[in-house]
Amino acid sequence: MISGWGNYPRTGARLSAFCSLAELRTLLAGDTPLIGRGLGRSYGDSALAPTLLSTACWNRLRSFDADSGLLVGEAGVSLDDIIRVFMPRGWFPPVTPGTRFVTLGGALASDVHGKNHHCDGAFSAHVAWCRLMLADGSIVRCSAQENPELFRATVGGMGLTGIILEVALRLRRIESAWIRQHTRRLPDLSSVMQAFEEANDASYSVAWIDCLQQGGSLGRSVLMTGEHAPATAIAGLGQPRAPRALGVPCNLPGWTLNGLSVRAFNALYYRRAPRERTELADIYRFFYPLDAIHHWNRIYGRRGFVQYQLVLPPEQGRAGLPAILEAVAAAGQGCFLAVLKRMGPAGAGYLGFPREGWTLAMDFPARPGTFRLLDRLDRMVLECGGRLYLTKDARMPREVFEAGYPELDKFLAVKREVDPHNRFASLQSQRLGLT
Ligand SMILES: Cc1cc2nc3c(=O)[nH]c(=O)nc-3n(C[C@H](O)[C@H](O)[C@H](O)COP(=O)(O)OP(=O)(O)OC[C@H]3O[C@@H](n4cnc5c(N)ncnc54)[C@H](O)[C@@H]3O)c2cc1C
Repeated sequence: MISGWGNYPRTGARLSAFCSLAELRTLLAGDTPLIGRGLGRSYGDSALAPTLLSTACWNRLRSFDADSGLLVGEAGVSLDDIIRVFMPRGWFPPVTPGTRFVTLGGALASDVHGKNHHCDGAFSAHVAWCRLMLADGSIVRCSAQENPELFRATVGGMGLTGIILEVALRLRRIESAWIRQHTRRLPDLSSVMQAFEEANDASYSVAWIDCLQQGGSLGRSVLMTGEHAPATAIAGLGQPRAPRALGVPCNLPGWTLNGLSVRAFNALYYRRAPRERTELADIYRFFYPLDAIHHWNRIYGRRGFVQYQLVLPPEQGRAGLPAILEAVAAAGQGCFLAVLKRMGPAGAGYLGFPREGWTLAMDFPARPGTFRLLDRLDRMVLECGGRLYLTKDARMPREVFEAGYPELDKFLAVKREVDPHNRFASLQSQRLGLT
């Protein structure tokens, strides 16, 4: 049985790693539905299908231009690989999600965003071009200029247009592997939203939210903003090492995370955060705190968990977010991790998630009460003109998806052209009526 990061749902599948283009073509010639698979960090069912085409062996760095920072890598190269090789040489991924264990193929197929979306856009904004193998075995290069419709359907297209083979990514120059991090504790939602707006020039910003608070403390948060530290600011600190990760050895019992334990954790986390402090944090601590615990997803137990990530337009967010947080706190479903970020304008992808406004991501144990709550949140998100993120999704109803993605028709037109027999299909694409 295999699953996404949320361990929900699980399904039987054949995992086939291809090591050559000929092998990939042979796999494409079969007749079961196929979908690409990177490191399986998408939460739900977007990288699940009867046959999974794993890029685990397709992971060589092809070329690097030290003047422009243009890196060409095969789809299975991970951000961790890139950081290990290029950070000591003064380069860093231009956009990174909250884990470095994602592949170039997975990052482009989800068109991931980071803590700098409000300044730098999503991953695809830094991709010069990519090459992919289509269902008929042909290889096509696409970019914002070359085959632009195919590019727009592929970035954020969840692997449904073909297998991404190579990505040409423009890395960012950095002077050090350290971030000047500013942390602030904020007592409620309106103060954290205001603080985000005041910090709009910060390169990176993100807030942890205590989702169990109600009334006057609704949305109390810890806001972290950051800038790459200049070489002059880190005297003597040198290159940080990736922390040796601790691990959760097996699925914990389902009751480990309950209303009481989450409330206690949240209270401790909030109280231990500084009221206001500026310090140097290494890149691992600032960007990837969760990577310090291998298999942290096992704390939710065998039944797994779902992440619900929504985005609301700026004005609607002001009214919508308090109502959503009230509903979450009142339901008491034990939301363990919740993160709020600002987003800048939408990117190129027809099915891209980001749009200008506020994005909130919340983890919940997978159980019936959670699903009833999420059905209610769906209606609130749509009333605010928002949408949900496909790479986190395991349960969104088709009508909620269709209402949230106005460029769906353009995506489907490309899909019909490049994959008329739906060779590429995931459990998610079938649930959502995409294939
Ligand atoms: C702790 C954690 C934090 C995260 N934080 C963020 C965040 O801040 N921002 C954000 O945007 N996301 C975030 N994510 C989600 C993650 O970045 C995405 O799900 C990413 O796509 C995972 O990459 P992967 O290589 O594991 O791909 P998979 O999970 O294996 O696949 C994801 C999608 O990409 C497709 N795919 C993979 N490889 C290929 C290929 N070669 N060709 C075609 N399609 C392919 C799959 O079919 C699937 O649809 C986070 C995930 C975790 C676990």
